[in-house]
Amino acid sequence: MEAVKSYRVPVEAPKDLIEEYFKVKQKVLTVVLSHVKFSEKAHLEFRNEERRRLRDELLGGWRFSKHYVDSVINSVIGLVKGWITLYNKGKARKEPRVTRKTVYVKSTLFSYRDGKLKISIEPNKRYLEADLTKYSWVPKDFEKVGGLILTEKELIITVKKNVEPKAETWASFDMNLTNMTALINGEVRRYNLKTLYHVHRVYEIKRQRIQKLSKFKPKTSEKLLEKYSHREKNRVKDFMHKLTTAIVKDLVKLGSGAILENLQGIKDRVLNSSKRNNRKLSKWNARQFQFMLEYKLKWLGLPVKHVNPKNSSRTCPLCSGYLVAYEGRLMKCSCGLIVDRDVVAVLNLQMWGAGFTPESPP
Ligand SMILES: [Zn+2]
Repeated sequence: MEAVKSYRVPVEAPKDLIEEYFKVKQKVLTVVLSHVKFSEKAHLEFRNEERRRLRDELLGGWRFSKHYVDSVINSVIGLVKGWITLYNKGKARKEPRVTRKTVYVKSTLFSYRDGKLKISIEPNKRYLEADLTKYSWVPKDFEKVGGLILTEKELIITVKKNVEPKAETWASFDMNLTNMTALINGEVRRYNLKTLYHVHRVYEIKRQRIQKLSKFKPKTSEKLLEKYSHREKNRVKDFMHKLTTAIVKDLVKLGSGAILENLQGIKDRVLNSSKRNNRKLSKWNARQFQFMLEYKLKWLGLPVKHVNPKNSSRTCPLCSGYLVAYEGRLMKCSCGLIVDRDVVAVLNLQMWGAGFTPESPP
């Protein structure tokens, strides 16, 4: 199994390439979109010869390495196909646009040796070099470098290695809006997520304020909203990085894999909107948490399993009976078991993940 991680390193970016790439990308998008046909279902009619003709035309005034043009065409086709899929599901709003000035650098465009990356900008003439050994946060234990993304101020590198994840034992996690419960090495642990909740609240209030402004100053408010959502995301990311790094450290010592709830199974069917909002936030947090925990664990050769969480906080872990609310956070089963609501979820996830007992009561 391939484990993947990505990192950012600062570089002196070739501004001319980034600009030209951006222009070409917009041009290609216009061309490819004109080949989307809307008979019955939307689909792309863009034949190989048309593609070749476009490529030749673009290469006319192109002084940079040719592979960049191929990468533009590929990524735009991918973008449009993704949009078509959404469109056919009735989920696409606006047509796709190219807004970010990023350059995808295929593996044919760079070499990697002794910690140094050498990226071809103009064939046999101009290169961009990055010495990865200078950056302490880039791990040394990878096997190869995947694709690179060049932005106006940094290079995003993806590193890969092959792992065969194996666990001695399993830990399970259950995340709510303000706390997370874990069962690690037979021990119940709670992690306080109030800081995280607070971050969301702060930005929610800011957003509400800006929305009032949007009637009078739509441009300004749009910019502000973007800025704040960016900051909110960064703060959440920061928090999650710290949390997952700490957990991974503990799991590595135990040789423990992680059992997580499969988030695809959760449906939003809550009526009132503040509750729905909280659900969304909770799901967003859980996604981020799982994503980070998973790639960090995999990198260290520890596996992750996803379990359908349906009824995980309502099923008796002893007899598979149906738990009912008791006092406070407690739940009770007809077999006599009384157990904390959060604890029962991680217990069940752990058992189901390990393959014991039926998944839920009929
Ligand atoms: Zn029971």
